Formats: sequence, C-alpha cells, structure tokens
Amino acid sequence: MFIAGKWEEAAGGRRFDVTNPANGEVLADVPDGGAQDAARAIDAAFDAFPGWAGATAYDRSRALFKAWQIMMERKEELALTMTREQGKPIRAARNEVQYAADFLQWYSEEAKRVYGATIPSARADQRFITLRQPVGVVAAITPWNYPVSMITRKLAPALAAGCTLVLKPAEATPLCAVEMFKIFEEAGFPPGVVNLVTAGDPAPIGEEFVSNRKVAKLTFTGSTPVGKMLAGRAAAEMKRVSCELGGHAPFLVFGDADPVHAAKGAQLVKFLNTGQACISPNRMLVQRALVDDFVGTLSERVGSMKAGNGLEDGITIGPLVNQAAVDKVAAQVEDAAAKGAEIVCGGKRLTDGGLDKGFFYAPTVLAGVTPEMRIYREETFGPVAPVIAFDDDDEALAMANDTHYGLAAYVYTQNNSRAMRMFEGLNFGIIGINDINPTSAAAPFGGMNDSGLGREGGRDGIDEYLETKLGGFSI
Ligand code: ADP
Repeated sequence: MFIAGKWEEAAGGRRFDVTNPANGEVLADVPDGGAQDAARAIDAAFDAFPGWAGATAYDRSRALFKAWQIMMERKEELALTMTREQGKPIRAARNEVQYAADFLQWYSEEAKRVYGATIPSARADQRFITLRQPVGVVAAITPWNYPVSMITRKLAPALAAGCTLVLKPAEATPLCAVEMFKIFEEAGFPPGVVNLVTAGDPAPIGEEFVSNRKVAKLTFTGSTPVGKMLAGRAAAEMKRVSCELGGHAPFLVFGDADPVHAAKGAQLVKFLNTGQACISPNRMLVQRALVDDFVGTLSERVGSMKAGNGLEDGITIGPLVNQAAVDKVAAQVEDAAAKGAEIVCGGKRLTDGGLDKGFFYAPTVLAGVTPEMRIYREETFGPVAPVIAFDDDDEALAMANDTHYGLAAYVYTQNNSRAMRMFEGLNFGIIGINDINPTSAAAPFGGMNDSGLGREGGRDGIDEYLETKLGGFSI
C-alpha cells in the first residue's frame, strides 16, 4: 500500500494472494488493508490537500505529464502485468495501457484550462466572479475488468483539478494498481497526494470512505447494487458521488445496413475483454430480413476465436474473472436454451488443453432470444451474443429502451435521418453510430438510470472534481 509517500504493510500485517485467471497460478501477495489503513490514507490525503490545491496548474500539469511519460516507457511491462493478473490477450492489454495513458496526457493539458467566469450584474455597483476550486479529498474504487484505465480515468482529472486521493482497486487486480502507483511515486507527486489501499475484503474500506468526514467525494466504478449502496451511504453524509455502473447495451442493425459489416463490428465489440465490459452489447437487435446473414457472419467469426492464456500467440479471447462469472454465463445460456433459444455456436465451458485450470467459457451466439429469457434483461458480463429480431424502427427503439440500464448503445444504418432519430431517442449516455469504439480520453463517458451518475473523460470529467464558488463584489 502507498500512504503518505511510503510503501506500507496493512496495520494488521495480513496479506492476500493474487492469481492468474487463465491457470490459477498465484502471482504475488499484497497487503490486506482494513478500515484503519483507509483512515490513515485519508488523513494523508487530507493533510496534503492544501499544498496540492495551492500548487499552480502548471505544477500539477507537469506531474501528470511526467507520469504519462513514464507510463509510455513502461507500456509493455504494464501490459504483461495486466494479462497475467486479469487475463485479457496481450494486444488488448497494450491497447488498454495506451487508453489509460491518454487520460494522464489529456488532463495534464486540461489542468491549465480550469476557468471561472465573470457574470454581468443588474446592479451598477456589483461584480460577479466565479472560481472553480477542487472539492477536496477523493475516495476512488475501481473494478478488475479494466484495471489500469479505470484508475487513470478517475485519478487524472482529480489530480488535475487539485484534489488529493485514496484509491482502493479491485481485489482481483491490485498488482496493476501497485505498478501505477510506482509510476506516480516516480513522477514526483508530493507525499499524501496519491494513496493506495489494497484489500481482500472491500466492505470495511468502502464504509470508511463513505463515513469519514475528511472525504469530500466518492468515485466508484463497479456493479449497480454496490454502487447504489455506496451512493446511498455517501448521500447521507452529503458527499459528492460519481458512479459508473452496469449496462445492457443494445446493438441495433437496421435493414439498410450491411449485415456483414455490422456482424464484424458486433463480434469485435461483444467479445472484447471476454464480454466483461459495461459497454458490451447485451442484445443484438437485428431487422428480421437481415437476421440470417448477420447470424451467419457473426457465428463464423465467433467460432474461429481462440481461447487461452493471453500471453500465448494467436489467443483472441481470455478467461472470465472467476468461477462465479462462468456459472452466471452458463446459467443464462441454459435458461435461454430451455426457453427456446438456439445455440448457434459455443454454449459450453472450455476445459480441454489445460483450460480447466482457468475460467473459460466458449464464445457463444444465441439466436431467437425473447423477452422471457433472463439474458434479455440481466447483464451477462461474459462472451454471449443474444440475437433478437425486430420489424420496424418504433419497435426497435422501444425494445432498445426497455431496460433500467442506460450506458451504451450501438446503431448500424446507412440512413442519416434514422441515425439521428436513434441518437436522439435512445436513453443511453454513449451511442456508437456505425462505430464500435465511441470512447476517448477527450470524450464524456457515463450512463443514465441504473448505469450511474456523472461523466468521466473530457471537459465533463474534470467538472466532477470541482466546486463553483461565487464572489459578489460591491464596488
Ligand atoms: P463485480 O461484481 O464486477 O466485481 P463489484 O461492484 O463487486 O463488481 O466490484 C467493483 C469494485 O467495488 C471493486 O473494487 C470491489 O472491491 C468494490 N466493492 C465491492 N463491494 C464493495 C463494498 N461493499 N464496499 C466498497 N467497495 C466494494
């Protein structure tokens, strides 16, 4: 753990193991922190806050830029750690490291653009001026699926704004966080500005984060139930909250789209990170006339994916995170099949060739999915593409919006009017129009309804860490 500029053990002296989900190998152990450690880290961040908030925007920018430079030098090392700890194929890990580094670079620039305003008054003897100031100590909780980029997506804007912080990474992926904090240490952030608490049991740390009066803001990425619970607790203390939670993205393919092109896009985005992404499509809604061509191309491509250890050549899909994830995927597929869905490819656990030591499930395509099936509403977070037919635009839009989630949606159409109607009508925070990667450090990422509160990335991302203060001057 990294507290007040020093590497520390947990107060209780305990440690916990970190394993490789591809083969069960123990990779390392890390300190198993508790509430007392979280409180120590919050104290350190609180004490460092006046100095960091009072540093110039140029100082903060330089430290972030330095962290970006070191990260670029360590790209390969970070990617290797990520593949071992999280399981994604090495190429995907490299892409994630680049995406993660982009946040450090972008917010090193944005740090210098935190502008206030002058506002005309109705009184001749009055002047209004606003200041934008950092909210204070930030507590951050990040998930295991994108174990490096979810850190920088929160920390870079918080640090650029002048906040100090404590991070608790997911228990499955603390090693990526440790590597990132070595980079922050070398980049020269003053002691206490960035603090890391690792823990095998997240609950006591979460409780300290939401109850400690020194914490001004909680930023959380993870599941909807945990996010709602923590946001509720934080609201009782009137803390600021941002949450990036689950999703159930529709992927709409209209009759005027090229079904082969759409199916290629669907395969690339659905099976990225073994489907363990909050923006992963969870319903492929395809206009009836295109269903056969779409399913044909999709299943052909999915059938040729190669599962295994992401460090080996030719592996295109990694393991799931743990046994519970495999069981959830298997249960959704069995439920769909029992209610009449067709398993076009996959549909089983993978155990041959040593895969039984890890958590593998075959990439799967289901056709003929209907609203009675669990997968129609429940987030899968796994490698299953359920295909559902629709007849017209109104039905497609109604089906797409028929969810409590509201994170990402995808639309394939060649018709500009339809594209705009869908962009306006879909109740989701991120819409990819003929595009499977609508994400960037420069663009706002976040959802509506059960998918969360607030935005990360871009100009909106730094607003989450700033207070607006009004000055009314009588002259
Ligand atoms: P998932 O089911 O995808 O692992 P979680 O919401 O459980 O999603 O995990 C996301 C993050 O939330 C992780 O860092 C995890 O440790 C943390 N977390 C889970 N439960 C709690 C809790 N009760 N308090 C604080 N953090 C928690």
